[in-house]
Amino acid sequence: MQEYKLFINGEWVSSGTGETFNDVNPATLEPIGKFHKATEDDVKHAVDSAEDAFDSWSSTPAPKRAMILYKTARILEEQKEQLARLMTQEMGKVLKEARGDVQEAIDITYYAAGEGRRLFGETTPSELPDKFCMTVRRPIGVIGMITPWNFPIAIPSWKIMPALVAGNTIVLKPASDTPLLSVELVKILTQAGLPAGVLNLVMGSGSTVGSAIVCNKKLRLISFTGSLETGKWILGEASKDMRRVSLELGGKNPIIVMDDAKLDLAVDGVVWGAFGTTGQRCTAASRVIVHEKILPEFKRKLIERTKKLRLGNGLDDGVDVGPLVNESQLKKVAKYVDIGKEEGATLALGGNAVKPLPGYFFEPTIFTEVAPGMRIAQEEIFGPVVSLISTSGLDDAIRIANSVEYGLSSSIYTENMKNAFRAIEKIEAGITYINASTIGAEVHLPFGGVKSTGNGTREAGTTAIEEFTEIKAVYFDYSGKLQKAQIDVE
Ligand code: NAD
Repeated sequence: MQEYKLFINGEWVSSGTGETFNDVNPATLEPIGKFHKATEDDVKHAVDSAEDAFDSWSSTPAPKRAMILYKTARILEEQKEQLARLMTQEMGKVLKEARGDVQEAIDITYYAAGEGRRLFGETTPSELPDKFCMTVRRPIGVIGMITPWNFPIAIPSWKIMPALVAGNTIVLKPASDTPLLSVELVKILTQAGLPAGVLNLVMGSGSTVGSAIVCNKKLRLISFTGSLETGKWILGEASKDMRRVSLELGGKNPIIVMDDAKLDLAVDGVVWGAFGTTGQRCTAASRVIVHEKILPEFKRKLIERTKKLRLGNGLDDGVDVGPLVNESQLKKVAKYVDIGKEEGATLALGGNAVKPLPGYFFEPTIFTEVAPGMRIAQEEIFGPVVSLISTSGLDDAIRIANSVEYGLSSSIYTENMKNAFRAIEKIEAGITYINASTIGAEVHLPFGGVKSTGNGTREAGTTAIEEFTEIKAVYFDYSGKLQKAQIDVE
């Protein structure tokens, strides 16, 4: 079995103990590779290397840093198909979606590279004569990045590319279910000319490697995407030393379907949002709030359409839904199905692990007669389970949509402009789609959420650079005499 090492200071090195962990294909349970398990000392070494590389990298002109990203994007394009296939094998998402994941990495890499010739500051008049005022963006320093498994190349790229172009150096820890795509990404950046020490890769568990990153005081920012529980812990730890944290956490994303909606369009959107990536997207549609007048017809159409989905190995043609990523996800989804039944919701479709297949497959599952306060309508399941909730009208639907602790994505299907704008104004979420599903963010728009979905930062889009830069205000006084601001001129 192929063995993959840590990447520290520009070299592939064994972990301190030489211990490894296995990564398996969730569709076949065949091993993918052996990965070196970093120790706390390895993490320290990686952080020190990133610290040593910072001065030179942050002094490299941003357009030059960007040239490495342009080259990276071109290599990613060349390797797109191969990377997508590796991803399907490592994580299970169907090939078409894996291609989309790689494409997102390509898109953000080009987008971030463009920032090399922007990284704009502002100029503004001074209140005093012969004085010039401006702001400049500075890198933050050495950044710790911790990523989940559901977008194995897109999410690391969303963080790495803007951080690099802004002049930061990095220690990355990917999820243990998907280290391979991070290994490939590091190889590509190195091939594109990234200097040693600028990006370091450590692999292993959250409890050892992740927490060693979080607790390392040299890391000025921890950029984290993952669960609410882990995010809360990271926030608590980093805040002890006043270090910055950027958190992109969970979701419980609603789709509202009004009585004036195009029903078939809405059904398509729900099927895609709920069962795409086997429901394992932070933006997955897990609650569908349907106007009572159209609920019976909507339910019938949704069940009919969902029954047609084909489960299987994501590399096979015609497969719509791949496996869950691992056994604990499978158990978690099964547990929530039991909870839903106990709470009194009606299991209208699915609800079982798929036995004849060797991997972690779970049937697309629909609950109806779900009350907004039930746990299946409140907690993130992160699997192919969707809850149908009845509503009497738009205000009630928005109240239900907002009745959860998360606020990432949201959607409304309606042909009425007033309904659409009311939803844009009133739904508490970082993203609202009109007549489109809750998934499918584009890299040039800000991505993130409100309430417990995060701590207010946004990734990608015009805000991509904000997460990874500090703003410095500069006052340039060329009067040659002492001038006092905030004091009335005599
Ligand atoms: P997770 O929090 O268990 O793990 C995420 C990462 O954190 C992994 O690399 C893991 O090893 C690491 N980790 C775990 N415990 C840690 C600790 N104590 N200290 C430091 N690192 C630790 O989450 P997951 O199950 O891998 O991912 C699914 C979650 O991610 C879902 O809640 C999903 O909504 C969320 N997610 C959010 C976004 C977003 O942008 N908002 C995107 C994708 C996924």
